Amino acid sequence: MNVLNRRPLFVLTQTVVLVVVMMAAASQATGQARTGETVIQKATEQFEDSPLTITSLSQGLYVFSGDGGNVTAIVDDGSTLLIDSGLASRISELSDAIFRTTMRPVTRLVNTHWHFDHTGGNTYFGSSGVTIIAQENVKKELSSAEDVPFIGLRDGHYPPQALPGLTYQGSLTLHQGSRGLTLENYGAAHTDGDTVIYISPANVVVVGDIFSNHFYPIIDLSSRGSIDGMIHSLDQILAQTDEQTKIVPGHGPVATRANLQDYRDMLVQVRQRVKDLVAAGKTMDEVVAALPTKDFDPRWASGYVTPEVFTRMVFSSLAGANGSR
Ligand SMILES: [Zn+2]
Repeated sequence: MNVLNRRPLFVLTQTVVLVVVMMAAASQATGQARTGETVIQKATEQFEDSPLTITSLSQGLYVFSGDGGNVTAIVDDGSTLLIDSGLASRISELSDAIFRTTMRPVTRLVNTHWHFDHTGGNTYFGSSGVTIIAQENVKKELSSAEDVPFIGLRDGHYPPQALPGLTYQGSLTLHQGSRGLTLENYGAAHTDGDTVIYISPANVVVVGDIFSNHFYPIIDLSSRGSIDGMIHSLDQILAQTDEQTKIVPGHGPVATRANLQDYRDMLVQVRQRVKDLVAAGKTMDEVVAALPTKDFDPRWASGYVTPEVFTRMVFSSLAGANGSR
């Protein structure tokens, strides 16, 4: 009886869910944010809900995915060096998983850049005496509130223990056991403090959000990110890697150099199309309406950055209209 009584409500709930899903699909197709939800709200919901998964790249080298940006762990005899620290709200789960996997304490943490989904565990690790290492601009970005155009991110003002204690400008070499880590900054790209980490002899490179695998990227115009800078950094990474290199993106599965090349080529083509429209005197809204990413959308628009938001960021980067929304 109970089941029968509940049935109409169940059917109604299913219908409501279906309508909501259809509305979401329709709003995605037009690139409009539904009910004012920002890119960051959508991304945060995904980071809160995704299961934490662990991938082994080689002996003592792991990638933890799901709780924000990818987190890489490199183990030596007595310690673990981490690259990025995930989302603040899931730090207990992440640190437990890291310890269960590596059986070593984390002693050093490298941030690929300042964004909250890559530095969320900084306060936790920094408070436990972990040395935080980053390009010098990361310290500046984490110390002051930043508004990132088009995506609804306002962040900064981290406590002192969450800030990098060791910074560098262009390049820094570290060792973790028998492995060498070369940290490189190729100038502003996704942000003005990006670090690319080459791990040898494992032939692994961790590139942060310069590459989001299968998603349109965020270009952080508030911290001098640019489409030209993204492509410049990608060209440097392509020049330093080979077909066997394992590439750890900021988000999404571990990739190959061929995947990185496809992504770089997509950025180059979108840049050229938007450039041509800007040269023809089109406004930002007219460029968005021209759908310059249309043929790339089936492959790259599945993430939280819609074609519209991506196009607005590329336009602003090329037109120098960094503050516009
Ligand atoms: Zn980022």
